[in-house]
Amino acid sequence: MSQFVYRFGGGASDGKAGDKNLLGGKGANLAEMASIGLPVPPGFTISTEMCDRYYAEGERIPDDVCAEITDGITHIEGITGKIFGDPADPLLVSVRSGARVSMPGMMDTVLNLGLNDETVQGLAKASGDPRFAWDSYRRFIQMYGDVVLGVDHGLFEDALEIAKEDKGVHLDTDLDADDWQRLVARYKEIVAEELGRDFPTDPHDQLWGAVGAVFGSWQSERAKTYRRLHHIPGDWGTAVNVQAMVFGNLGDTSATGVAFTRDPSTGERAYYGEYLINAQGEDVVAGIRTPQYLTLAARERAGAKPLSMEEALPEVYGQLAGVFDTLERHYRDMQDIEFTVERGKLWMLQTRSGKRTAKAALRIAVDMAGEGLISEEEAVLRVDPAALDQLLHPTLDPDAPREVIAKGLPASPGAACGRAVFDADTAERWAGNGEKVILVRVETSPEDIHGMHAAEGILTARGGMTSHAAVVARGMGRPCVSGSAGIAIDYKSKLMRVGAGSSGREVKEGDVLTIDGSTGEVMLGEVPTVQPELVGDFGTLMGWADTKRRLRVRTNAETPNDCRTAREFGAEGIGLCRTEHMFFDPERITNVRQMILADSEAGRRAALEKLLPEQRADFTEIFRIMAGLPVTIRLLDPPLHEFLPHEEEEFAEVARASGLDVETLRRRAGELSESNPMLGHRGCRLGITYPEIYEMQARAIFEAAVAIVKETGEAPIPEVMVPLVATRAELAIIKALIDKTAEAVFAEAGARVDYLVGTMIELPRAALQAGAIAEEAEFFSFGTNDLTQTTLGVSRDDAGRFLTQYVEKGIFGRDPFVSIDVEGVGELIGIAAERGRKTRAGIKLGICGEHGGDPASIAFCEATGLDYVSASPYRVPIARLAAAQAALRKG
Ligand code: PEP
Ligand code: MG
Repeated sequence: MSQFVYRFGGGASDGKAGDKNLLGGKGANLAEMASIGLPVPPGFTISTEMCDRYYAEGERIPDDVCAEITDGITHIEGITGKIFGDPADPLLVSVRSGARVSMPGMMDTVLNLGLNDETVQGLAKASGDPRFAWDSYRRFIQMYGDVVLGVDHGLFEDALEIAKEDKGVHLDTDLDADDWQRLVARYKEIVAEELGRDFPTDPHDQLWGAVGAVFGSWQSERAKTYRRLHHIPGDWGTAVNVQAMVFGNLGDTSATGVAFTRDPSTGERAYYGEYLINAQGEDVVAGIRTPQYLTLAARERAGAKPLSMEEALPEVYGQLAGVFDTLERHYRDMQDIEFTVERGKLWMLQTRSGKRTAKAALRIAVDMAGEGLISEEEAVLRVDPAALDQLLHPTLDPDAPREVIAKGLPASPGAACGRAVFDADTAERWAGNGEKVILVRVETSPEDIHGMHAAEGILTARGGMTSHAAVVARGMGRPCVSGSAGIAIDYKSKLMRVGAGSSGREVKEGDVLTIDGSTGEVMLGEVPTVQPELVGDFGTLMGWADTKRRLRVRTNAETPNDCRTAREFGAEGIGLCRTEHMFFDPERITNVRQMILADSEAGRRAALEKLLPEQRADFTEIFRIMAGLPVTIRLLDPPLHEFLPHEEEEFAEVARASGLDVETLRRRAGELSESNPMLGHRGCRLGITYPEIYEMQARAIFEAAVAIVKETGEAPIPEVMVPLVATRAELAIIKALIDKTAEAVFAEAGARVDYLVGTMIELPRAALQAGAIAEEAEFFSFGTNDLTQTTLGVSRDDAGRFLTQYVEKGIFGRDPFVSIDVEGVGELIGIAAERGRKTRAGIKLGICGEHGGDPASIAFCEATGLDYVSASPYRVPIARLAAAQAALRKG
């Protein structure tokens, strides 16, 4: 018979940390902590396999599993000495979800389960604290009512507000046992009014309801959205953890908190966290009470008054610090921890590898390697290449003037600017229309997740560093300022107010705001930004990565600025210089148009004459910047009509420059229009039909190259690349033209440079014919944008309309224009590489489609043995790290 329930507690466990797929992350780590002797309240985990079965059995828990669960309760009773449902001293349990990977706030939790009108009396007596017992009972009804029974939680909150108003108090802590008891009665009335039946009193019935609700929450809309955004498969399922309750709300020697073993924002090696005395866990994350600092140092740094845990509960704090060290040494990574202190006794409720910013990830990896906890290789593998994106983006210019209107907590670093919006749907809608938005909320909840994703940044009025907004924003890499207490948000009028009286400010929906998630500052209007400095831990880790990778990393760049940025980011050459981008320059476009619209070769040559010196100047500058590194220049590629004039004035200008009349030009423009431009007169087909264009470009390249040799004494390495080749014959004709032009230039200049002529592989035919094409080509560069388009028969420009659905339905695991379609496009690349090498051993192979900056595609390039990847400048560091990881994983 298969096992669905795994027990832990009392120094032993059925499971271990490696069982995440079966027990979920939370369950596996609880088992691990219990087995290494840490204080974990006893409990059991119902495995993720049960989640599937729950749905297969029509959303009910089958009898055999009910029996296992009942045995699990007996196990807890045995260790705690308390009995579930005992009116004298009842065992209470928590019921929590726990998937393989953490999905913060996405699924349901029920605490204090097992309370009813009898057991609450027992709890009051056993704890000696009737107020606590009745407060726990009303919390239970509220949570269970909301999560399991589906009663609107607003109704409970309203009832609580009325109770406080009636008594004339503001704080929950001002309510006494009798008040809570009255509220319990009211809550039960609410349930009965809403559902037409009474709140369940039998603890076992309560348990079945809660377990079912947690499994049920796996398929909630918000959980599904979260999975889609994080590429989490729907069939993983969640586990359910049932555990003896421990209470952080039993007076001033009780507390609850969350902590990281290092600072998750900066990576600094300092305990980091928040706690609340006399509170239950949910109070810390819910942002209802503002939590206090864990350490004295953090409290002093923030200038806060309420005592840190280090000061208020020094003994337990000492124990906790010991547990932090044990956990870090055991897991060899920074841990994110939840704990409760019940009357001076420490209990661990959770540990997991902590989410961190890219900056913290770098620092922690480098520090841990320095501490000898992990190796350099492990350090390189610890940092998610995609997360580097956060670091490579601009931060606020420190010298720029700014009007700081409010300050909150620096919850997730980076600067963001956009229009203020006050709800998630608007954020998503506006972002969909291309607007940058800042999502402003009192606090966020899992329902806001789509808006947070759409926003540039998030600002909240309430909540600490571990609030929902802070945790989720850090995970997403969105800048976030949380708990900005000085702002008042009015959802109805869609505005926020800062300050009072005449100095007060109003920010309406649509007004521009800037937030700095590294300092917590909120500013009116747009504040200019500066590029980050890539030194320190970044430099160290990238240095290690560079020694581990085999693939070279180049960049796709054509402007001097992009070339310089890419070099600073470590590019080892240019893998793709798209010359057409240079043609769009407003100073040149008229000459380009004159060339295209000319009705004779002579007319075209006249225009090309004017373009030659400009192209030569472009290439000279690029060779100068790239100083001796290879530079792949692609000859003109796109359909000619992309350059055509549209406006009256533009036609007139070309007429003036060319001497042709506007009518003739219009007729020529008409002739050039195509039904399927992507499959039309583009790529090397231009070079075949208008050889003088490619001749001019080749001349510009070689004239620039010899000029640089004369200027610097150092030879550039030009690699001339021909686009969209389908046959060997096309390349043979064009290569002959390039070679002839090179010889002419070298003879005129009395100097030579070495160069290569190669081709892009962008068509399935070219991939299949790679053996023949390699007779001519000295290198291949895989143009995977076009190769994906032509292999899948999916238009690059129109894919957006349906591809998201393809990904949602699982037809593609990832968008094939983002991450390489290994089975289709990948196989063609493999074939081309093999056939190319057979003809020309050692033929240089690279990739220059967008995939060159995607970590998964880079792993594919490593496996296929390409020589280099080429990525846009900002993705060069990502590619360097991904290439190192791919090499290390390949071993
Ligand atoms: C490609 O097709 O992958 C490529 C790099 O060329 P472009 O994107 O300019 O068509
Ligand atoms: Mg292409």
